[in-house]
Amino acid sequence: MKNDIRKFSAEEMIAEFEKMGEPKFRAKQVHEWLWKKSARSFEEMTNLSKELRAKMAEQFSFYSVTENIVQKSLDGTVKLGMKLHDERLVEGVMIPDDERSTACVSSQVGCTLSCSFCATGFLKRERNLEAGEIYDQVVLLNKHALAHSGKPLTNIVYMGMGEPMLNYDNVMQSIRYITSPEGLNMAQKRITVSTSGIVRGIRRMADEGMKFNLALSLHAPTDEKRNKIMDINQSNPLDEVMDALNYFYEKTGNKITFEYILFDKFNDFIEDAEHLFDLTERVPSFVNIIEFNNVTGVDLRKAKRENRDAFVAHLRNKNVNVAIRRSRGKDIDAACGQLANKNE
Ligand code: SAH
Ligand code: SF4
Repeated sequence: MKNDIRKFSAEEMIAEFEKMGEPKFRAKQVHEWLWKKSARSFEEMTNLSKELRAKMAEQFSFYSVTENIVQKSLDGTVKLGMKLHDERLVEGVMIPDDERSTACVSSQVGCTLSCSFCATGFLKRERNLEAGEIYDQVVLLNKHALAHSGKPLTNIVYMGMGEPMLNYDNVMQSIRYITSPEGLNMAQKRITVSTSGIVRGIRRMADEGMKFNLALSLHAPTDEKRNKIMDINQSNPLDEVMDALNYFYEKTGNKITFEYILFDKFNDFIEDAEHLFDLTERVPSFVNIIEFNNVTGVDLRKAKRENRDAFVAHLRNKNVNVAIRRSRGKDIDAACGQLANKNE
């Protein structure tokens, strides 16, 4: 089987090219085409001879991701269905706002964790995405940002399909390609990785010496309640997650974002707000209140407006930094937790 050209580091590329009898600077040119110029095929590498391009195509595969289905929401949100080289599909979303545009990217095809409220969790996990496949989503979504507003993406969130911490190496590699000057050169602080709370992964990311942000899909403020909707909490209880988040904060100086979907009569009581307040006292943080998007077959419902407002007011009275996130791209099922390849 041929090796994917994008699997090689800069050094490995030089070694590969030496084997082919090609000089070092050619390897560097190719590396630049791949990560700085976002080439999606060998043919695009126009400063290389036709012969060399043909030789490369013989020797290596180029597993780029292609746009398959484009859905545009009335609010400007664009959802892309993207095809992988093995015909599998992933989804990504571009969300425009006044001053910014955010790309929401997937890290896996499906997800092994079956959180009870999440559409992705109902899919079987097919495979991890390669770093290049995550990077490609950013490149493709960036084109839609440019088409929409004339400006490139400002933010990237790892909140599409999959659990980033369970595809650790490829996710980290994709962040390096997106942020390094040899790649897309985006600021680390513009990136947010969202996790269901995998302690080992959080600690490892803290040790990477980088400055991207971390969000925790909290959704319930006690172990007892969280165990009911997120299985991962059984093996990664809140105490340990909080310690890991503190460690991340110490290492990066970045506050943690708690994501909290308000479910009707499940986690929307004032008592829950009080428990959530306790958690925010334990680690420097923001709270994002997220509107639940109904998922077929799930009997949880979104909280009533008045309960939401009371919940938020309770937190604000205690000086917690709370934002209410309105759901975007509803008409095209582009919201988080709805990315589930409906077309399959
Ligand atoms: N696996 C990671 C990242 C992907 S999920 C994680 O869980 O954090 C992205 C966000 O969408 C998470 O906060 C997730 O909890 C949330 N989400 C899942 N299903 C949802 C739904 N039906 N409505 C609203 N948000 C949902
Ligand atoms: Fe997986 Fe995140 Fe969905 Fe849970 S919420 S099933 S971890 S994608």
